[in-house]
Amino acid sequence: MSIASARETVLGAVRPLGTETVPVGEALGRVLSEDVTASADVPAFACSAMDGYAVLSGPGERTLDIIGESRAGSPTDLTVGDGHAIRVSTGAAVPAGADAVIRQEDVEPRDGAIHTRAAVAPGANVRDSGEDMRAGTTVLRAGIVLGPAELGAAVAAGAADLTTARRPLVAILCTGDELRAPGESLGPGEIHNSNAPMLHALAARSGAQPLDPIRVPDSFSDTEQRLAESLERADILVVSGGVSVGPHDHVKPALGALGVRELFWGVALQPGKPTWFGERDGKLVFGLPGNPVSSVVTFTLFVVPAIMALQAAADLSMDRTEAELGVAVKRNPGREQALRVRLERRNGTLLAVPNGPQGSHLVSSLLGADALAFIPAGEGELPAGARVALEPLPR
Ligand code: AMP
Ligand code: MG
Repeated sequence: MSIASARETVLGAVRPLGTETVPVGEALGRVLSEDVTASADVPAFACSAMDGYAVLSGPGERTLDIIGESRAGSPTDLTVGDGHAIRVSTGAAVPAGADAVIRQEDVEPRDGAIHTRAAVAPGANVRDSGEDMRAGTTVLRAGIVLGPAELGAAVAAGAADLTTARRPLVAILCTGDELRAPGESLGPGEIHNSNAPMLHALAARSGAQPLDPIRVPDSFSDTEQRLAESLERADILVVSGGVSVGPHDHVKPALGALGVRELFWGVALQPGKPTWFGERDGKLVFGLPGNPVSSVVTFTLFVVPAIMALQAAADLSMDRTEAELGVAVKRNPGREQALRVRLERRNGTLLAVPNGPQGSHLVSSLLGADALAFIPAGEGELPAGARVALEPLPR
């Protein structure tokens, strides 16, 4: 199965989660579920773009009496007439009668009056009401991911709460008798569980809600029990390791016993070949290979789009860009390779340069990698300079 058809299978199994309404201040990184429209014109009133004086437009060399002041948040009731000026601050309402603002730098103060040095055109330094947003227009579309700018625009549009997709709960289960907690001293043959923090961080970065990772010993009954508990709690199960064909790989039979329907096992991908995917009652289960690089690559390629689709995101994070391969790369006859690459610009050309040795057990090979570059399956080498597709790696 190709990466593309594996992804199609994953997306075909997705049933979007419900929505929940959250205060704007808690919405960062969530997917918007309903359009946001401007409840009023923004700004709601014509205001000054400068510190200066609200005046009638006209030629320079005029002397105008200062009759009052309009401050940000404290407009004046006074009306500007011929021969008048009202002091205004940036963002303060332009008083009635005035059609322009002359900058403070363009006037000379004169005992209760100003003398204008420059002509001032109609509308000069005045921000119109509705210039930013018009009442009733759509400011944010359902399906976008809410970033800093979206939160600001939502509040400017008058929103206090936003209807967003419920964030998928992701259970992370790390199988392996050899795994030890961070910092724990290692006995013979043991390793630190480096997948747990990576998969947790990847889920959090993708806008999901990761549960605390669970370590699962290599026994059928432990595996079945932990999987059963996670199927109750989470929307997505991400299982690392135990999904190959070894005598201590219990994930597939345990999932089978729990009624999780297998939708694929095996992707023509290097690293990531033994990736398993199944579904039970709308819950998605990913069995990722245990090697750290394989688990990161397959999480990025298959789990992230599922997280986005469960939230009905418009962008499922599968868009590809292109670069030139920086060096020749040996092809794999049977599998597409997802190389970890750094992106470098040389003479204006974007180059994808393999980020050192590519072994799937080398967690350090992920350090500083910008993207995955896809090398199609085939014989021989893909030469330096060949165009390759890229997908960004979360940093
Ligand atoms: P498995 O897929 O269980 O056969 O594991 C493949 C390789 O990945 C083995 O070398 C495991 O020790 C290693 N591995 C499995 N799980 C983890 C983990 N959570 N963190 C780091 N390495 C792991
Ligand atoms: Mg294992």
